[in-house]
Amino acid sequence: MNIDSSYRSPNFTDRRIPVEFVVLHFTAGSLQRTLELFLDPKREVSSHIVIDTNGSVYEVVPCFSGQALRAWHAGVSRLEVNGSLRDGFNDFSIGIELVNFNGNLFPYTEAQYSSLCAVMERLKALYPALARPEAVVGHEQIAGFRGKCDPGRCFEWKRFFALCYPGQGAPGREPLCSAEVAASLQGMVDSAGVQYDPKTGLATLPQGVDHTFFNGLSKLSEDLLSKKA
Ligand SMILES: [Zn+2]
Repeated sequence: MNIDSSYRSPNFTDRRIPVEFVVLHFTAGSLQRTLELFLDPKREVSSHIVIDTNGSVYEVVPCFSGQALRAWHAGVSRLEVNGSLRDGFNDFSIGIELVNFNGNLFPYTEAQYSSLCAVMERLKALYPALARPEAVVGHEQIAGFRGKCDPGRCFEWKRFFALCYPGQGAPGREPLCSAEVAASLQGMVDSAGVQYDPKTGLATLPQGVDHTFFNGLSKLSEDLLSKKA
């Protein structure tokens, strides 16, 4: 697996973290837009790893050395694990961003699943806590109460666990976004004229439709879903 480490984010805390979890996200924008955000010190966001639709892997905050630094991907977050409450996942997790304008609408590509598994193999070898499938969660499992709904309905958790944790079962990972909310987002995408190619994962955006439109969709779903959570 080829890892591009030439884009380094200034947005991290310069301190080693113990790695107990991996948190999966979608970017809500193109690779280029995502790297722009992560490299902008004013944005104060980052993730350790970004996986593009073509499977290319970018290490934006160090983690492949075996000494992960603290990236800023999870925000306010919590999860009950074996009866005790864990919160503040940036302190003990690696964040992986999958490039996708909206993972509640658009499928992830073959290349992304395959790179994700290669990445997980590397990380499992470095961080023993990741040997258990329970160690991989979506942002929606730990921040659904804020309406975070990534990686979303289109992420195939069963396929992911079968590929990356063969024979180890598949912990339940229900999407937060309801079919109803997804349908209303789909309506907006359709009326904006967005075309999506499931093979390449590339969306064709009409004139005037850019990341602002998809940020709007994410904001809308956060508002709708945080009320219910
Ligand atoms: Zn996220």
